[in-house]
Amino acid sequence: MQYSDLCSFYERIESLSGRLEMTDQLVELYRSTPSELLETVVRLTKGEIRPGFEGLELGVAEKLVVRALYMVTMFSIDEIEEEKVRSGDIGIAAEALVGRKRQTALFHEPLTVSRVFASLSRIAFVEGRSSQDLKLKLIAELLHDSSPIEAKYLTRTVCQKMRLGIADMTQIDAFAYIHTPEIDELHDLLIGFGLSDNDEHVRAIKKHLPTAMNSFSEPHSVLKEKGLDKDSIRSIKEKVQEVKALVQQNRETIVRAYNIHPDLGRIAALLASGGMESINEVKVTPGIPLRAMLGERLPSISDIIDKMDGRTALEYKYDGLRVQAHITGSGQDVRLFSRQLENITDQFPDVAGYLGSMFRGEDCILEGECVPVEAGTGSLLPFQVISQRRGRKYELHDKIEEIPVVLVLFDCLFLNGSEMIGEPYLKRRGAILEAIPGLTEDIEAGQGLALSKMLLITDAEEGEEFFIRALNDGCEGVMAKSVGKESIYQAGNRGWLWIKYKKDYHSELNDTLDLVVVGAYHGSGRRGGTFGAFLMAAYDSDEDRFRTVCKLGSGFNDRHLEELPGILSGLRTEGGPHPQVDAGMPVDVHIIPQIVLEVKAAEITFSPVHTCAWGKLKGNAGLALRFPRFTGRIRDDKGPRDATTVHEMIGLYRQQVKTL
Ligand code: AMP
Repeated sequence: MQYSDLCSFYERIESLSGRLEMTDQLVELYRSTPSELLETVVRLTKGEIRPGFEGLELGVAEKLVVRALYMVTMFSIDEIEEEKVRSGDIGIAAEALVGRKRQTALFHEPLTVSRVFASLSRIAFVEGRSSQDLKLKLIAELLHDSSPIEAKYLTRTVCQKMRLGIADMTQIDAFAYIHTPEIDELHDLLIGFGLSDNDEHVRAIKKHLPTAMNSFSEPHSVLKEKGLDKDSIRSIKEKVQEVKALVQQNRETIVRAYNIHPDLGRIAALLASGGMESINEVKVTPGIPLRAMLGERLPSISDIIDKMDGRTALEYKYDGLRVQAHITGSGQDVRLFSRQLENITDQFPDVAGYLGSMFRGEDCILEGECVPVEAGTGSLLPFQVISQRRGRKYELHDKIEEIPVVLVLFDCLFLNGSEMIGEPYLKRRGAILEAIPGLTEDIEAGQGLALSKMLLITDAEEGEEFFIRALNDGCEGVMAKSVGKESIYQAGNRGWLWIKYKKDYHSELNDTLDLVVVGAYHGSGRRGGTFGAFLMAAYDSDEDRFRTVCKLGSGFNDRHLEELPGILSGLRTEGGPHPQVDAGMPVDVHIIPQIVLEVKAAEITFSPVHTCAWGKLKGNAGLALRFPRFTGRIRDDKGPRDATTVHEMIGLYRQQVKTL
């Protein structure tokens, strides 16, 4: 398979913003990919060589790519840098420069997908003193044989700025359409009714394209134009519905596998070798992080008790960093993953040490919240303190003594060869104690590990008392957990088996919101030279887009204002908003959705400007925040797709109306 074929798909995908149209392109791409290359193509499309949780970074510095471009095109370094600044994107610059190349090669070997992937792998794996020279040589060799378009995607890939904007769930949709053979039966049915492959819609069904399925099932479906009688139309529509349900079923199966093994490349390889059947074989495996289970929210303990059928467990909701600990070899090997599935073991060698020495058994996966405590007393400190430990490579040893942490365990997902995620809550809690015998709820005991504080309740007053105690002990609220027979661990899901209740619910607008920066405004006066405000968006998970909810200008201190332009500088887009942003108002600078800020607000109102939930609750209006203010917390533990969703905004609006 030629790399240029792949790049043509990328060009098309980049020009689209609709999720369904993108899925069409992916279906075409993956169906035309030889099965032995499918894993490779899926990884390249994600812009990775290995799954993110393995921590292998391609991330070559742009400077090195500039040098490679210099070697291949003979433009001067200054000319290349200028082009980069002008286009604001290394890929577009490379495309332009290779297009105007001063030196034309005599020998030119077309790039294949396998060759590109092999070279990129070498770039990612090479270490040691002369590694920079080797990387430079490998990049230059690839660029030497590249067309302009290939140069664009190659340079973006090596700099880890692929930016196709394809969510993993969109890729999974494509897999589901490809692996639903009943779509071929639908195609046979259409042919049986006298339609032919000369018809573009019929051809699109043959290709398993999702838009085709929609064009047949919409109320004004294209079927009417095809001169079919009523009965034929009805039976085709019935078949379309049946096939759509099967696609959905397959999608759920793949999502389940992805939630416990979040590696699209591996999932693609399984599908390529054994189809949907092999997907069912995906099992929880120590060493491979699962996607986190999350909770819904309710405004009072009595609402929670009702929702949980009269009885629930309440746990302290600790304010720290979520950690999933994978222990193998009877405690010899401990790996820690963040909620974003990054391997963070190196930042918490102390925690890994406690787990390794206190674990009794063969292997297990535990989950908990890592919280900072005061050296000496062991009492809880505010979350912000722990961020001083994150991302630190040097002086880590001093920080470990200065800012000790405790891992407060609240779940067990795997123990001694057996999956625990399908077991009910109380059994999983028991398994934590089996894994770490002698563990107590006492954080101040100085063991570095503790069990989350928990109380079983049936009565709201008892619950409120526990909640107040949680706040007094420095927690942000409580997490209610179902104790029913069905209280499994739902990896990657936000459901009603867990419900959070926080202290903010007592004041103004319930919870804080985690919103994504999609635009910025130049400041004036004291904020001259930096940004004065930001356009913020919620995540629309149905459409995989970002829809705006407010302009945010308050709550920023001087340090934030100094830091933010740097953080956002690599995320500017020139010439218009990012295709996945649905912006309600103009901005000075468009920003790629990436950075999540925590925001508080007085209330949610309707807005003729902002696009969140547009037309959903009221015609020609969206939802917006009144008096939004930044809490000071940059949520670097959350990706843009972990931000507050449009669904949640609608839920919060409804709750607010109910409370009033
Ligand atoms: P939120 O980020 O507000 O949706 O709250 C969910 C987060 O609360 C989880 O990702 C955990 O990091 C954290 N958390 C703290 N204590 C607990 C607990 N006892 N059980 C579950 N999650 C907890």
